[in-house]
Amino acid sequence: MEQNTLRPAPNLVFVIPCYNEEETLPTTMERLGELLAGLKARGQVDSASGVCYVDDGSKDGTWRLIEERHKLDPSCRGVKFAGNAGHQNAVWAGMDAARQWNADCAISMDADLQDDPGVAGEMIERYREGCEIVYGVRDDRSSDTPFKRWTARAFYALMSKLGVNVIPDHADYRLVSRAALQALESFDERNLYLRGLFPVMGFKSAKVYYKRRAREHGQSKYPLTRMIALAWQGVTSTSAAPLRMAGFLSFLCALLAIGLCCLSLYKYIMGEVIQGWTSLVIVVLFLGSAQLFCLSIIGEYIAKIFTEVRHRPRYIIEKYL
Ligand code: UDP
Ligand code: MG
Repeated sequence: MEQNTLRPAPNLVFVIPCYNEEETLPTTMERLGELLAGLKARGQVDSASGVCYVDDGSKDGTWRLIEERHKLDPSCRGVKFAGNAGHQNAVWAGMDAARQWNADCAISMDADLQDDPGVAGEMIERYREGCEIVYGVRDDRSSDTPFKRWTARAFYALMSKLGVNVIPDHADYRLVSRAALQALESFDERNLYLRGLFPVMGFKSAKVYYKRRAREHGQSKYPLTRMIALAWQGVTSTSAAPLRMAGFLSFLCALLAIGLCCLSLYKYIMGEVIQGWTSLVIVVLFLGSAQLFCLSIIGEYIAKIFTEVRHRPRYIIEKYL
């Protein structure tokens, strides 16, 4: 792309969700401060750019650290939740704050800086070239345990089988432009799964690759139970495919019923079975598939209700003339 078609240096907000991160935050604040200063000095971002820390109902000194930093550096701002609302809501709140502050774009990033902040400059370049969303993708998961790598691979395979549009190995490290922030506001759902939401918007996007590091301070706030809950949230808030499983099963069950009917009738004619067995098998199999068929019809209507109550926008506008 030619130099003169680049967008001007954006007013950028880093969105950092924090839950009990008092051990990590001092280092994170220091590093993000340096990163921003560097970006401003090189003219990659506007001088009004800053950081928005979202305290997701922490019980430790996280908010005190954010307040202290804000006093020293007003470009560092904070949003405090009354209670723990979860990582996805914290990212949403930070993005919403960035939109209200009229930022040109926001980059969401975990507080432990496991997702290399060094590629933020590259994300901004992609934005300036015209991308509305830039996904940070891990191309090296060697810092994760083999279990986490295997489950992650299985999860992305399952999601693609279910027809869900997610970017493999992309978590919540991404740049989102103002147009996408405005679109985000119109997604009215409560069961948030941001990774499945941005790709459906349809904006021009790009990927930047990085190596995910190990956490330096404090512990992971995502134990296995929370990971499973997030994966389950991912499946159930993006796809109605599991509801359609009853239809598929009823079809299988009906095929089985026909096969077994023929077999049991044959055995009945040959006199190989005791009285009553044939009729019982036929009744059980046909009733089973009839019930599954009815469930699949109910599932189809529930799927419609599901898409209606999410109240998603019908379309997303990129530009007006
Ligand atoms: N986090 C949050 N609310 C929660 C749990 C986590 O805001 O209820 C934040 C946490 O502070 C961190 C990010 O989400 O900034 C990712 O969490 P973590 O690094 O513990 O997850 P992992 O990297 O182990 O998957
Ligand atoms: Mg982490």
